[in-house]
Amino acid sequence: MSDFRLNTTCVQGGYRPGNGEPRQIPIIQSTTFKYDTSEDMGKLFDLEASGYFYTRLQNPTNDYVAAKIAELEGGTAAMLTSSGQAANFFALFNICENGSHIVASSSIYGGTFNLIAVTMAKMGIDVTFVSPDSTEEELNAAFKENTRAMFGETIANPALTVLDIELFAKVAHAHGVPLIVDNTFPTPVGCRPIEWGADIVTHSTTKYMDGHGAAVGGVIVDSGKFDWMAHADKFPGLTTPDDSYHGITYAEKFGKEGAFITKATAQLMRDFGSIQSPQNAFLLNLGLESLHVRMPRHVENGQAVAEFLEKHPKVKKVSFPGLASDAYHDRAMKYFGHGGCGVVSFELEGGRDAAQSFMKKLKLAAIETHVADARTCCLNPATSTHRQMTDEQLMQAGIPAGLVRMSCGLEDKQDLIDDLAQALA
Ligand SMILES: *Cc1c(COP(=O)(O)O)cnc(C)c1O
Repeated sequence: MSDFRLNTTCVQGGYRPGNGEPRQIPIIQSTTFKYDTSEDMGKLFDLEASGYFYTRLQNPTNDYVAAKIAELEGGTAAMLTSSGQAANFFALFNICENGSHIVASSSIYGGTFNLIAVTMAKMGIDVTFVSPDSTEEELNAAFKENTRAMFGETIANPALTVLDIELFAKVAHAHGVPLIVDNTFPTPVGCRPIEWGADIVTHSTTKYMDGHGAAVGGVIVDSGKFDWMAHADKFPGLTTPDDSYHGITYAEKFGKEGAFITKATAQLMRDFGSIQSPQNAFLLNLGLESLHVRMPRHVENGQAVAEFLEKHPKVKKVSFPGLASDAYHDRAMKYFGHGGCGVVSFELEGGRDAAQSFMKKLKLAAIETHVADARTCCLNPATSTHRQMTDEQLMQAGIPAGLVRMSCGLEDKQDLIDDLAQALA
């Protein structure tokens, strides 16, 4: 574990080279690893010894980068995945099975919403969606006998609602289940959900962690705090012998600190194989090395752009938790002390036509299905990601036709404001 501050961990966490070893994390671009005896290799298969045998399960490059992210989040173990989608699926499926139930915030990334509401439903896993603004009583009412996990996003993409992590954690724990928090938007530089009670933290590392729009990836971090054995009847996958691993009981053999990630590696990576490539893990780490320097600039640019837009007569409404007028301002101040990230969403007077012609006029901000990298980009959900929906359906989903989501990059904030001003004019 790191004894250093977060800024130092961003730069040097996870990898401590020995004498004469590479200063930078080496890319171990090898599918497999060599052993002198089959007895040596057998110990790995039995999880008796730790080591590498096949990159579909584990790779040293990935493990160095995962260890850095575990330190950044204040967790005990972490696993890189091929994408954010894989991270959220594995985090849930590691403790849910046919017949389980999940309580999830309704204000989450569209891909995750689909994963839970449609794809996991086909696996026999049921969900109750709750508003991120639910009271404690409303949250309690969503739980059932077969609930196995609670899920939310620290700052939701694209709605920019802020999760009350402390309250969600309190309710989850009262029902004997872990809280899983997707912390993609603030990153551990802005918020460390484990300090507020979250048990498992996930990320799409594709976004700010990579930060350069170079590599799709994800990560799962375990706090090591959830006591699986205390709720053994709910989590048999962790608390009873795994026949596919010679009768190992993960929670006994690896304890609270290691059981969740070891099971996810040994079972889910083995069977689904959604590992991150070592090359992408290397690129991710280049992003992590400057995460603490970049995030404050994203937040500063988001704040400046939000303040400019809020005063503009052609803008109907601006959502950015850093604005005093924002519905989630108090929560943002509690959990981050600022706007949280560089994503701002705003609604133009004049609906989808206004949004489309405005976006055509932008010179710096490119139209992209992406957020959270160095270059500013924007998207009008009504004409892109949500174009199959009618205006009425869009309103119901809280995505008015004239809504523009803008991800403020690392450019000079005055250039971003000048670009918006000329396009609005
Ligand atoms: C993008 C995103 C995801 C999905 O991540 P991918 O890396 O695109 O698979 C999940 N959660 C949030 C909050 C996201 O922004």
